[in-house]
Amino acid sequence: MNSLYIIIFFIFGCFLGSFFAVVGERLPRNENFIISNSHCNNCKHRLYFYDMVPVVTYIINKGRCKYCGEKIPFMLPFVELVTGLLFAVSYNSFGFSYDLFIALGVVALLMVVLVSDLTYYIIPDEIIVFFIFYFIIFQFLKGGINMMSTHVVTGIFLFLLMYFIMFLGEKMFKKESLGGGDVKLLFIFGLVLEPILGVLSIFIASVIALPPSFYLLFKNNDHMIPFGPFLIISFAFIFFSKITTYDFLKFLGF
Ligand SMILES: [Zn+2]
Repeated sequence: MNSLYIIIFFIFGCFLGSFFAVVGERLPRNENFIISNSHCNNCKHRLYFYDMVPVVTYIINKGRCKYCGEKIPFMLPFVELVTGLLFAVSYNSFGFSYDLFIALGVVALLMVVLVSDLTYYIIPDEIIVFFIFYFIIFQFLKGGINMMSTHVVTGIFLFLLMYFIMFLGEKMFKKESLGGGDVKLLFIFGLVLEPILGVLSIFIASVIALPPSFYLLFKNNDHMIPFGPFLIISFAFIFFSKITTYDFLKFLGF
């Protein structure tokens, strides 16, 4: 029975992944993503249900639009597949519980932010607001008003910490180092993680962002890389690793 649910969550996740990719790709352009029909971005040909089977369509049509032959970004099947896998992992880790809904929210946030930040270098405010409400509601259902308010305070703490880091960065490098979206993202992290683990997520994100940053610096490339994807990946990693504040402090030798 358990493995049946894992498969169902995988398939469900692949379909929702398709939706997350569309939201992340269209919302920053203010294009409607719910009412308008699905269509090819290049030839505008309407896509029917059988043209949109996650991953499968991409493989059958060899990564191209069936109607005009335009290449479909690899991001799409990638997001579909990873969402499916992480939905399956979420169910396997949390079973049917409020934590499962929090986990699915983490996956949704991860995917939408990745697509939008990598494509347009922005994290739309609509996304931020939606997930603030989403996580506040589920923390309330899970642990009542106490747990909810603890997480809101944690969110404010992490938001201010990130704001301070951004402020320092701008003073030191005399240019905008982080986007406002990254700072707002930290408020959401606080709605999910404990404070110390939220700080850890900033640290891990900075460490994994270093090699590509040095590479660009070395190549004298002024191209900027968004910090959001590093933040969101380290956040999801910490969440799914199920590491606790206790484990982390013990690891540090406290
Ligand atoms: Zn097309």
